Amino acid sequence: SDVPLYAVFGNPIAHSRSPQIHSGFAEQLGDAVRYDARLAPVDDFQGGWRAFVSEGGRGANVTVPFKQQAAVLADQLSDRARQAGAVNTLMVGDSGEVIGDNTDGAGLLLDLKRLEAPLADARILVLGAGGAVRGVLGPLLATGPSELVVANRTVEKATALAELFDAMGHIRGCGFEAIEGTFDLVINATSASLAGALPPLPEILFNEGALAYDMMYGATPTVFLQWAQRHGVRCVDGLGMLVGQAAESWYLWRGTRPDTTPVLEALRADLR
Ligand code: NDP
Repeated sequence: SDVPLYAVFGNPIAHSRSPQIHSGFAEQLGDAVRYDARLAPVDDFQGGWRAFVSEGGRGANVTVPFKQQAAVLADQLSDRARQAGAVNTLMVGDSGEVIGDNTDGAGLLLDLKRLEAPLADARILVLGAGGAVRGVLGPLLATGPSELVVANRTVEKATALAELFDAMGHIRGCGFEAIEGTFDLVINATSASLAGALPPLPEILFNEGALAYDMMYGATPTVFLQWAQRHGVRCVDGLGMLVGQAAESWYLWRGTRPDTTPVLEALRADLR
């Protein structure tokens, strides 16, 4: 058929929300696309991608555990993909070249702006120093916070990231026990929530009007958001980031900008 083909690659992939999100964009914009969920073997993302391209696939989202393999596979990387060291969006260029980009940071920023989160001149705390954090530090620092603190269980990973992004602004890396001061925005990007665990955080952490954001999402608030709720601050999960990164990928492929709000609302209603 002539309907342009896209997909999300992951392993596992069955529970991915991306097909629903992109179908929502397609419907909203009256731009018919086919968007599949594709399972690739853990050690052979390249094989899955090649098969997809031979079927006419034009672009794909890439999720756990393939973001690094996708970065290796791409012929060209955007600056932000290089900075993140990971690719979540692939597209086939006019000459068949494979272009790798990373829209996770832009997706988070899109959501934080929608929420009118404190950013410029704010004190921002990021918990975690994994792949997701690597992708969001550049866009966060570009908003001009007064200070950005990265705190992680493995301290060396936090200090290494702070060093890597040092030229972009006031950034410091430390362990959870060394977090000092109070913050306007606290972003949990640890996977501790997956295990129902909470990083050991100081009891006094939030400024007046602060926002607590967990990159994880689900039917019920994470332990981090439950903890933040008890401290009386506004709490938001990462579903909007998921829709935001999808919207940025859609823009790269299709050149149009979907309205994320109705798609996010439909997804939220579905999660419950
Ligand atoms: P990684 O595996 O790369 O990193 C995991 C991080 O969590 C590390 O910093 C690790 O610390 C920390 N961690 C794990 N367990 C614990 C624990 N029990 N206590 C304290 N810290 C812990 O994961 P990602 O960076 O890829 O993803 C992080 C989270 O963000 C996931 O929950 C993921 O679902 C979510 N995410 C959401 C997105 C969205 O669109 N909403 C997009 C991308 C990610 P250490 O270094 O010490 O091991």
